[in-house]
Amino acid sequence: MPRDSRLILVLGDQLDLNSEAFDDFDPKADTIWMAEVAEESTKVWNSKPRIAMFLTAMRHFRETLSGRGWKVIYHEMDAHLTFAAALQATVKQLKPQQLVMVHAGEWSVQQEVEKTAAKLKLPLEVCEDRHFLCTTADFAKHAEGRKQLRMEFFYREMRQKTGVLMEEGKPVGGQWNFDHDNRGSFGKAGPGLRVPPRRFEPDAITQEVIAMVNERFAKHPGTLDDFDWPVTADEARLALDDFIAHRLAEFGQYQDAMWTNEPWLYHSRLSAAMNLKLLDPREVIAAAEKACRDGKAPLAAVEGFIRQILGWREYVRGIYWRHMPDYVERNAMNADQPLPEFYWTGETDMACMRDAITQTLRYGYAHHIQRLMVTGLFALLYGVNPKRVHEWYLAVYVDAVEWVELPNTLGMSQYGDGGVMASKPYVASGKYIQRMSNYCSGCRFDPAQSTGPKACPFTTLYWDYLLQHEPKLKTNQRMSMQVRNLARLDEKQRTAIQKHAKDLRTTYSQAT
Ligand SMILES: Cc1cc2nc3c(=O)[nH]c(=O)nc-3n(C[C@H](O)[C@H](O)[C@H](O)COP(=O)(O)OP(=O)(O)OC[C@H]3O[C@@H](n4cnc5c(N)ncnc54)[C@H](O)[C@@H]3O)c2cc1C
Ligand code: SF4
Repeated sequence: MPRDSRLILVLGDQLDLNSEAFDDFDPKADTIWMAEVAEESTKVWNSKPRIAMFLTAMRHFRETLSGRGWKVIYHEMDAHLTFAAALQATVKQLKPQQLVMVHAGEWSVQQEVEKTAAKLKLPLEVCEDRHFLCTTADFAKHAEGRKQLRMEFFYREMRQKTGVLMEEGKPVGGQWNFDHDNRGSFGKAGPGLRVPPRRFEPDAITQEVIAMVNERFAKHPGTLDDFDWPVTADEARLALDDFIAHRLAEFGQYQDAMWTNEPWLYHSRLSAAMNLKLLDPREVIAAAEKACRDGKAPLAAVEGFIRQILGWREYVRGIYWRHMPDYVERNAMNADQPLPEFYWTGETDMACMRDAITQTLRYGYAHHIQRLMVTGLFALLYGVNPKRVHEWYLAVYVDAVEWVELPNTLGMSQYGDGGVMASKPYVASGKYIQRMSNYCSGCRFDPAQSTGPKACPFTTLYWDYLLQHEPKLKTNQRMSMQVRNLARLDEKQRTAIQKHAKDLRTTYSQAT
């Protein structure tokens, strides 16, 4: 008996040849459906690098699937075509008996697909996303009965469950975590000469996408002149090999360090390839483990790197699905400022912000500490509404997909969830940035000053944040030392800091 005909929906971040949705693919009965939905690029003000990344990776994936002899219906960008209208048109034409998809990476997208399927009166089979090492059900089990979730405990469970960096039931090297070895800065000499990361020159498909994005999304932020991301599974593997050979060994030691005009340092640049599912995290973890076994990278670096993927990446996904849909509305610190305009241009007199934002708009990339302790920290101290901050991060990074971006932004960086992701707000003065980078030596401000014409905005706003939120922060044991330091400020200093902070907000908001 012929099988029911199925329409298999593949979303822009589901470019996974190993997808469960393809398991029983029958070329005689099944069709794959993909669509470039303009609304996806405009519902937050997407940067050109992010739009191009998704579209070119999707078009390459279409080629791969068609190369297998599979039928693919692909809707190219059309400003007026919505997701529902595009799907409806295909359903009308092909009359499939069933829709199949892997669970979406964004809560509202999943809702939209389900609603559309219901409207079309078609059964929708939703497959587990086997790209991840922890299912949402397993995460729920981990979370059950725990008052507080902490990444470290989840990570240890994942190590035990997967056997990664384990030896006879114990962590390799006798400890779970080498984080204290992983906080180095470069010192005055800077990062020195390194092999630059492998580039992937745009091929004909990417060039066509770049031209289209430059034309249709001309007013969107960012540029495509330097677009060189891996956009196929083969390229992603080459990028992985390149990282393992040239940067992994130093990754741990310098993972928190920053340097002017040095966007990549020892980072892997693999997040977009993994989030679009071109690259399996198991393969990345196995390659890092092998480098350790082969003596090519020290255990501290390899553990630090694997912790980001087996630990943080899986953990934030668990948090997202456990707390959506209301998570996106959380605002525990009642922050209500708009996002300063310079986030979209990089035009600011703060050297650290200028560097982090400029490279973000140029490459669609900033590394973790730039996101957390420069652009994120500033927004937190300034008091930007966390939803506005979330919209910016979702718009500008090539690796941004809501399941990973939202908990990192609203939770870890803005403390908007009141402590679900992080046990305390990540707040620091400009002195942290001075310690971890060379930014301050090229800046007109002084991180040691909190008032006066040379006062570093981070330092002013740091003290202002502590003053503003003192009653709430006092109740958090992990903040006690920072709050105690407030006692060093006399009344006159407090008033001067608060006035300076107010003036800063007025100056920076005038352009919004
Ligand atoms: C405010 C903020 C927003 C962020 N938004 C995103 C996002 O939209 N997409 C995204 O993939 N990451 C996000 N991150 C996490 C992290 O900054 C990026 O994964 C990392 O910078 C990507 O660069 P890389 O591939 O060179 O990573 P590396 O520094 O080489 O790290 C290796 C891998 O570990 C994983 N990883 C590291 N840190 C995290 C983390 N905190 N959460 C989840 N995975 C992690 C990534 O897959 C990354 O590719 C965000 C962090 C912050 C503070
Ligand atoms: S002085 Fe302040 S604003 Fe300037 S680079 Fe340092 S931390 Fe950033």
